[in-house]
Amino acid sequence: MNPLLTDLLDSLSLTPRPIDRDLIVRAWEFADLAHHGQKRLSGQSYILHPTQVAITLALWNLDTQTIVAGLLHDTVEDGGAAKEDLLTQFGPTVTRIVDGVTKITDIRLTGSTEKEFVENLRKMLLVMARDLRVILVKLADRLHNLQTLQFLPAEKQVENARETLEIYAPLAERLGMGEVKGQLEDLAFPYVYPQKYQDLLAQTKELFAQGEKYIAKFKRELLALFKPQIPSAVVNTRHKHLYSLFTKLKRPENAGDLAKVYDLIAARVIVDMVEECYAALGLIHGKYHPVPYLGVSDFIANPKPNGYQSLHTKVFGPEGRIVELQIRTRAMHRQAEMGIAAHWQYSEVKAQGVSGDKLEQGVSFAPQNKLAWVKQLAAWQKELTSDQEYLTALKFDALQHRNLVFSPKGDVYDLPKGATPIDYAYAVHTDLGPQVTGAKVNGKLVSLDYQLKNGDVVDLVINRKRKNPSSDWLNFAVTTTARRQIQKSLKS
Ligand code: MN
Repeated sequence: MNPLLTDLLDSLSLTPRPIDRDLIVRAWEFADLAHHGQKRLSGQSYILHPTQVAITLALWNLDTQTIVAGLLHDTVEDGGAAKEDLLTQFGPTVTRIVDGVTKITDIRLTGSTEKEFVENLRKMLLVMARDLRVILVKLADRLHNLQTLQFLPAEKQVENARETLEIYAPLAERLGMGEVKGQLEDLAFPYVYPQKYQDLLAQTKELFAQGEKYIAKFKRELLALFKPQIPSAVVNTRHKHLYSLFTKLKRPENAGDLAKVYDLIAARVIVDMVEECYAALGLIHGKYHPVPYLGVSDFIANPKPNGYQSLHTKVFGPEGRIVELQIRTRAMHRQAEMGIAAHWQYSEVKAQGVSGDKLEQGVSFAPQNKLAWVKQLAAWQKELTSDQEYLTALKFDALQHRNLVFSPKGDVYDLPKGATPIDYAYAVHTDLGPQVTGAKVNGKLVSLDYQLKNGDVVDLVINRKRKNPSSDWLNFAVTTTARRQIQKSLKS
């Protein structure tokens, strides 16, 4: 067997989820054939790339369809496969995901004007909203492309790396995929800021080495402290991702001073239950004094908008050094690393009531779960537009003039500010417009001139026999489609 295929099959045995291995083998062979004779710029055979993408998706515990889509994601655009073959051999779900990945890839976000950037970003959000798995494949694809970026021409390197820092890393963060965000940023950092990267690397080398010794000692003390009451507690140590350190140093309160960054090296306590998190915090504060004013953050009681949960504290560790500690359960840890992917997996488990046959067709994404995801996306968009900390905030700002609105099934529509249920009806289908007699927004009846907000779910009340719109509607309909159709109907 080809060693790449062996690696892929090995990675599948690590996932707890039932996987259709035969289908994966078929998809790999299909991709191998489609990319036959093609080479990556590294000189390696092309199939290495989709195989790596699929392995990443398997390690993220994603389902068969997503892994298959990962294998096939470049077969039509860059390989010799036809979309029809994908459809007949792997079905509509896989084809739709592959199609979505291609669309997102074609949307260039760097080098465009601000107006194009915003429009392109919106297009991207819309593709994502239709199936979350599109963005997961795209992130896995981007991760591998960054790992092999050194083989690209210099200009392309910077373009890809910059796009990663501006779009894909914040996106991973908003999806709660903290670990993926850190990986993407650290891979892109040296290409976008080569000198600053080298400087920081040199500055931190010694600090990280010292810190590792120190934290190993602290870890032994902590484990001894937990042993009597929470014997199952695990302590991990990590050092801060370099790019995240770079942005932290740029904040005015730190003024580039490494001594002010307390989480250069940090320890993370992982336990089984929520009560054990608070018990661990009590034990820690009983022995190591918490640093006044820097404070304790309870993200368990108050989760971050992306779902992140943990307790954070800063204490005086051995020798009086300030150390940051995070305390969380295993489930919270998984959420913190994998975010929406962990969540999506959970949603799918809940949807297991659907027959196995339907699951294969990808109906596993129950409508209400899809709705939860698209609503989260809308919330994310809103948050993005108000978050000044992001350099891109200025660009994202223009997004405020548009709203994402949803059908009860979770289909997403992109409407301008001020749009009403009538605009929505015409956006769904021009024949639907005249039939509208009322509308419910988020379960409540509203008037037809109600101005829709980002994230609203619109359920129309219709009368199929009605053929003509009301002339009043021209007083409040804002979209060109709706206005044109209403005027046309009124004339005839
Ligand atoms: Mn690719």
